[in-house]
Amino acid sequence: MAKAVVNKDLCIGCGTCSSLCPEVFKIEDGKSHVAKENCEGCDCQAAVDACPVNAISLEE
Ligand code: SF4
Repeated sequence: MAKAVVNKDLCIGCGTCSSLCPEVFKIEDGKSHVAKENCEGCDCQAAVDACPVNAISLEE
């Protein structure tokens, strides 16, 4: 099960990841936070691909 990780130094808080995977990504204080580490059912790879600054990675 992949675990999403956000590099907060890169994140610009655009909200794309939270609109794609709202269970996993929450925007707080202008940055994306991983609220639920295990991506189940949603496609966090879509968020990885959509992030404009490549701030999201998936760890096994
Ligand atoms: S898509 Fe990337 S830059 Fe945008 S809020 Fe998510 S992690 Fe941050």
